Amino acid sequence: MKNIRGQFPILTKKINGRAMIYFDNAATSQKPQSVINSMVDFYTKHNSNVHRGINPLAEEATRQYENARKKVKEFINANSTQEIIFTKGATESINLIAQSWGRKNLKKGDIVVLSIAEHHANFVPWLQLKKEIGIEIDVISLTGKGYLDIQKAKNLLTQKKVKLLALTLCSNVLGAIETRSIVSLQKIARANNIKILLDASQAISHIVVNVKKLNCDFLAFSGHKMFGPTGCGVLYGKNELLEKIPAWQGGGDMIREVFTNKFSENNLPYKFEAGTPNIAGAIGLGVAVDFIKKTGFKNILKKEEELTNYFLKKIKECDFAVLHGPTISKDRILVFSLTIKGVHPHDAADALGQKGIILRAGHHCAQPLHDYLKVSATLRASLSFYNTTEEIDLFFKELKKVYQKFN
Ligand code: PMP
Repeated sequence: MKNIRGQFPILTKKINGRAMIYFDNAATSQKPQSVINSMVDFYTKHNSNVHRGINPLAEEATRQYENARKKVKEFINANSTQEIIFTKGATESINLIAQSWGRKNLKKGDIVVLSIAEHHANFVPWLQLKKEIGIEIDVISLTGKGYLDIQKAKNLLTQKKVKLLALTLCSNVLGAIETRSIVSLQKIARANNIKILLDASQAISHIVVNVKKLNCDFLAFSGHKMFGPTGCGVLYGKNELLEKIPAWQGGGDMIREVFTNKFSENNLPYKFEAGTPNIAGAIGLGVAVDFIKKTGFKNILKKEEELTNYFLKKIKECDFAVLHGPTISKDRILVFSLTIKGVHPHDAADALGQKGIILRAGHHCAQPLHDYLKVSATLRASLSFYNTTEEIDLFFKELKKVYQKFN
């Protein structure tokens, strides 16, 4: 991997005269120049609405937009582009499933099984259905090391009224990779006609996400956590399931015909893409896929493993910080949430920010998990493959100073 950092213009930024250390990749990753260029190029040379106009410019825009869909389809190994719905992000993708599949298939007393490690984006849409139609939500707890408790999950799934298992592939707090557990729950889910929705928001740029291997029914992720622009994400759904559920939002593009008293729905994937989509965003996401392919996912993962091992070694040597989640590198992504003795995470994030180290403090939109861990907030350092061991060293050096100042 040659000159990776050089491809991310923002990484040369200085804050308070110091080189910025960007450790907030779980919130959003930085963007390579190729992604930035692709969006400028679209607005400079090809800007037009998609699908509607029968003119050469609209055709150019449509070609680029649909080409991006093809790239995403290949990236996650879906069967067809009809299974790839562009949304504004993982949050909208999960809401779409709750509002369309959920309202059609769930009734009072039906159970949705989640894990305690879910992001609010995979809690609240189901809580909304609980309020609206009276579904129940059962929650899988974790083992001491922060992995899904598989035995508990199996017990929950054998209940009669479970209709959906909705889980994150990687927690945005604990960093645990749950692929193996999820695959092991497949059998029970299938035997009991339970559908599976996976939240791949964190996983998508850190592990290979293959919807065929995962054999999930639905999968959601955001482009902006995989080097793409904000405002464009993906809902994958198995064709036969998406065919059977109604459109969620109504408007242009999602219809075939409209009369004053009725309408008919368009084909997949358009029936779920009402209104003008984020065209430049989708094109940027397609180029982010190109970027990952060109860099080589294997190379990215190798570098990430190196950084994970290094961070784990440093945290082991550190007697004033506790890491939440797995301590084995192959079981986790580079998302490290910490409790610092005697220092509130907000104070630590603020002090480190002044030194140019960008990280996140709070509950990271996972309040149920923080309640479960009995902490109100954590300090989260989330890395990407373009970070360096020198940056990790500096982080620990400055963290120690913060600890000493507050204790
Ligand atoms: N799920 C997980 C695990 C996440 O980390 C995030 C983003 N923090 C989301 C869902 C929601 O993503 P977005 O805000 O891009 O819709």
